[in-house]
Amino acid sequence: MVMEKKYTEIERLECSLCGKSYDPFKIQNLCQCGGSLVARYDLEDAKESMDKRNMSKRVLSPWRYHELLPLKDPSNIVTLGEGMTPLLQMKRLGEKLGMKDLMIKDEGMNPTGTFKARGATAGVSKAKELGIESVTVPTNGNAGAAWATYAARAGMESYIIMPKNGPEMARKEITAAGSHAYLVDGRITDANVISEQLHQDYGIFNAATLREPYRLEGKKTMGLEIMEQLNWESPDVIAFPTGGGVGLIGIYKAIQELDEMGWIDEMKTRMVCVQAAGCAPITEAWEKKEKKSMMWDESDTVAFGMNVPKSKGDFMVLDSLYSSGGYATSVDDDEILRTKQIITKEEGLFACPEGSSAVAGIKKLLDQGLIDRNEKVVVVNTGSGLKYPNTVQTSMPLLQPGDEIQIELEESTE
Ligand SMILES: *Cc1c(COP(=O)(O)O)cnc(C)c1O
Ligand SMILES: [Zn+2]
Repeated sequence: MVMEKKYTEIERLECSLCGKSYDPFKIQNLCQCGGSLVARYDLEDAKESMDKRNMSKRVLSPWRYHELLPLKDPSNIVTLGEGMTPLLQMKRLGEKLGMKDLMIKDEGMNPTGTFKARGATAGVSKAKELGIESVTVPTNGNAGAAWATYAARAGMESYIIMPKNGPEMARKEITAAGSHAYLVDGRITDANVISEQLHQDYGIFNAATLREPYRLEGKKTMGLEIMEQLNWESPDVIAFPTGGGVGLIGIYKAIQELDEMGWIDEMKTRMVCVQAAGCAPITEAWEKKEKKSMMWDESDTVAFGMNVPKSKGDFMVLDSLYSSGGYATSVDDDEILRTKQIITKEEGLFACPEGSSAVAGIKKLLDQGLIDRNEKVVVVNTGSGLKYPNTVQTSMPLLQPGDEIQIELEESTE
């Protein structure tokens, strides 16, 4: 007889502002006080049933860490094969930037081409478990594409709201997935208002970042994977291109939970938040040593996944930076696109602008002496360059067979 294993370690949801507890097996959005709810687990129990030396024998999915994820019943998992992305050594790129041990976690390998698939697998699976039949998601594009496709996979209705100048590729995915999609003449903060309106008027579940408690848990799996891939030794630095900040908060939460479980010998990772110069509210707040950020007016950047003028989780990002001894920095669009080209040319990794900004940010911190060239640095490339066809200019001469071809052979650099 096969023993039925239920996932039972999630204990409660805890308000990030006032600490009040909520039942994770009922539908929840925000705390009464307006604070975001954060999942808390019985880590002693988790420790009992997990063995850090044997994790690799488990299923090839972020759901291998189910003790640290919010589901009760594994049959509710909605997956498209997300996660388990490579952590690649960047020897050539590192040398070019003057670093000895640079790695990139390539999230471009995910379904829908970004790490947003992790948030969607956790959020949509949990929504299914709770009996939710329709969700609305305000988005800059990538989260919408992930939630629309995962909702389709779950047989759930989705209402995606995005800025009208949002990326075309995401719009196509959302449309193809049969979502009810709307554009808004404004920014993601305006889309938020419309999603809340849909919730109020029609009872559609509002799965906006940090209103819905579980996408944070999905994004957390990046941190769990990085640690497993590094044999549970914390790197010196992890850099993340930050918009709403849930990616960074999630990675830090993962490391803290593992540390609490006693899986990490020496917890030394400094978290780095990189933002685009055209939208850097959290970096500005960090520079002023503030606890919260201010609304960033007229935000604009080619790295649209980071165009979040005010995040509900800003204080949690800042908290992660202060308590890990990390940093925040920003880089402009020219630097982002230049770095994107360098990453692809040196390593063949077709990075997205957001991931490229994080590499550029690390270079800046290196030049400022805040990071040492010998340190182990992990940068998250949050998505695939394939989702941003307009950020690369091509020039390819047209040939016919038989035309004379002029080539200057270069000596191999190897
Ligand atoms: C959403 C997104 C980000 C920002 O992630 P947050 O968790 O909102 O900080 C970065 N890069 C890409 C490609 C994204 O889609
Ligand atoms: Zn509260």
